[in-house]
Amino acid sequence: MKKNKSYLTVVGSIAYDDVITLAGAKDNLFGGSSIYFSIAASNFSNVSIVGTVGNDFKESDFKILSNRNIDISNIKRIKSGNTFRWKGDYKENSEDPNTIFTSLGVFKDFSPILNDLQLKSSHAFLANISPDIQLELAKILKNKNALIGLDTMNHWILEKKNTLIEVIKKINILFINKTEACLISNNSDIDNAAKYLLEYGPDLCIIKDGKNGSYMYSNNEEKFFCPTYNIERVVDPTGAGDSFAGGFFGYLSNISKPEREDFQEAMIYGSSIASFTIEGFGTENLLKVNDENIKNRFEKIKSKVNLEKK
Ligand code: AMP
Repeated sequence: MKKNKSYLTVVGSIAYDDVITLAGAKDNLFGGSSIYFSIAASNFSNVSIVGTVGNDFKESDFKILSNRNIDISNIKRIKSGNTFRWKGDYKENSEDPNTIFTSLGVFKDFSPILNDLQLKSSHAFLANISPDIQLELAKILKNKNALIGLDTMNHWILEKKNTLIEVIKKINILFINKTEACLISNNSDIDNAAKYLLEYGPDLCIIKDGKNGSYMYSNNEEKFFCPTYNIERVVDPTGAGDSFAGGFFGYLSNISKPEREDFQEAMIYGSSIASFTIEGFGTENLLKVNDENIKNRFEKIKSKVNLEKK
């Protein structure tokens, strides 16, 4: 896939996950929101991570990232702490996991500092992490005119809604799933939830609805529906949302003045990449994907969509 000189910075969790799904249970999977995002986006773009890991972080996992040319120079290792950990159980609900524990580890006291290249990013993504951390970066990047995306989850909506709203006021594209959109807006209708969220200022609000597809709402009242690629057997849904956002932002970062159709195609690329992630545990399947695989599923999804003509 074409890469130009665009530079895409992401902050978000870098984690070891334990997951229980209908396909089985696995522990210590390399994951976290910024990891799924950057692996997906690295198919299109030059990605750089801001984050932190603990003493338990494996060198081989750094290698996975650097082998894909993902810039890891601003991932800080804190010797006195542990890497972020999350355990989720999808047995009752295959799309919204029951969180068994979240342990912030070294992210608890993390304050992001961007390096010179990251400060010049044309695009930045605030992947799921504490809104306090997201807000620090949003303030810096807004002044630099970067196109900023944001994702979050129910945990942060319940714990830090006011800070999260402050972040939403500073970003351009909001990614959120249907349950979270309804929770934050206190509204059971997703059209109304999107309207509520757009009133805080983003240009676009993308609401993901798992296997049913995703919707993109714009602040001029347009709505676009993007279907999913049908998967025969979902192994582990973890990271689907982050991979979707990575495909979307990675694709978009190559386009200097994106128009409506470009955003729609970005959704289809996001949907294509996310379909690979959920076919394996953790990042195992996402890491195997090549340009041709992504393009094939892109075309299949696109054939189900009526794209707006330019
Ligand atoms: P998703 O794309 O929503 O399935 O994201 C899954 C990833 O989010 C997992 O790899 C987790 O490590 C990470 N995660 C889970 N809970 C949190 C949280 N509260 N903050 C940041 N990341 C989280």
